[in-house]
Amino acid sequence: MKTEQLIEKARKFAEPFRVNKGKDFRLKNAMPGETLGLGNEDKPRAQEALTMGIEALAELQDKLYAQDKWAVLLIFQAMDAAGKDGAIKHVMSGVNPQGCQVVSFKSPSADDLDHDYLWRCMKSLPNRGHIGIFNRSCYEETVVVRVHPEIMARQKVPVELITKKIWEQRFADIRNFEEYLSNNGVVVRKFFLHLSKNEQKRRFLERIEIPDKNWKFSASDAVEREHWDEYMEVYEDMIRNTATEKSPWYVVPADNKWFTRVVVAAAIVETLASLDLKYPEVDKDKLAELAAIKRQLLKE
Ligand code: ATP
Ligand code: MG
Repeated sequence: MKTEQLIEKARKFAEPFRVNKGKDFRLKNAMPGETLGLGNEDKPRAQEALTMGIEALAELQDKLYAQDKWAVLLIFQAMDAAGKDGAIKHVMSGVNPQGCQVVSFKSPSADDLDHDYLWRCMKSLPNRGHIGIFNRSCYEETVVVRVHPEIMARQKVPVELITKKIWEQRFADIRNFEEYLSNNGVVVRKFFLHLSKNEQKRRFLERIEIPDKNWKFSASDAVEREHWDEYMEVYEDMIRNTATEKSPWYVVPADNKWFTRVVVAAAIVETLASLDLKYPEVDKDKLAELAAIKRQLLKE
């Protein structure tokens, strides 16, 4: 399949899940089990599409790197066991590691807490020509911190600044930050892997029952699960307040891993394709220089 056709196909898989305008978004209208009509019998075809998507991605990334102008920042947020790690691993499997950086954001360190909350994300922004992946991000400051106010109490933010407006302010901070990034050629795309509570239970049980998966499970995951409804509310609010034309959210159905990966790959292909990436053109002087060196090499 030609790259143009692939890009067209990628749009078909990515567009239905892209939220450009937060105001109208409702999480209840997004189905974690959605597969756009594809069933289990279509898995091999989906796998093939994914392989082609990954190849297209590699080609586009090569140009992104050569052009050295744009940077792409991909942010992943989700409940535990939604498949962030697997999606990142599979989708980025074909890209040149030199042009890609993955950063995981865990609980903030003492040094992090000694700064404003965007500080650690700013420090980890991708270089031009690179794809940066944030496995969790500053959005945790509007999610886990909101579900657990005691986390905020342990932070060093002056208490008089923590008012009823805090979430509204944080959404505005992040919107402004992302606008600033896009004005500087850092293209931001955000992924919420949308898992159902039932499927999370199934995956947790699998992690407990299969010895090789035990390491993936921690008791705190089960504690967070008890706050499921609150998490869904804050995630919805996060998307409603921060999905914009320039930095949209993709709300990716996460109950079927094969489908999640196709949509994530498609969204990245769609994003890179929108940049009209080209290998840098070489000017006349440079061409003359290359020809001279070639002549010299052939004479050896
Ligand atoms: P896995 O899928 O392997 O469990 P993970 O992303 O959940 O990956 P963990 O090490 O389990 O990684 O968890 C990281 C934890 O750090 C999450 O529970 C997350 O909510 C928490 N965290 C991230 N950022 C912040 C923050 N700014 N404040 C408080 N907690 C945070
Ligand atoms: Mg975890």
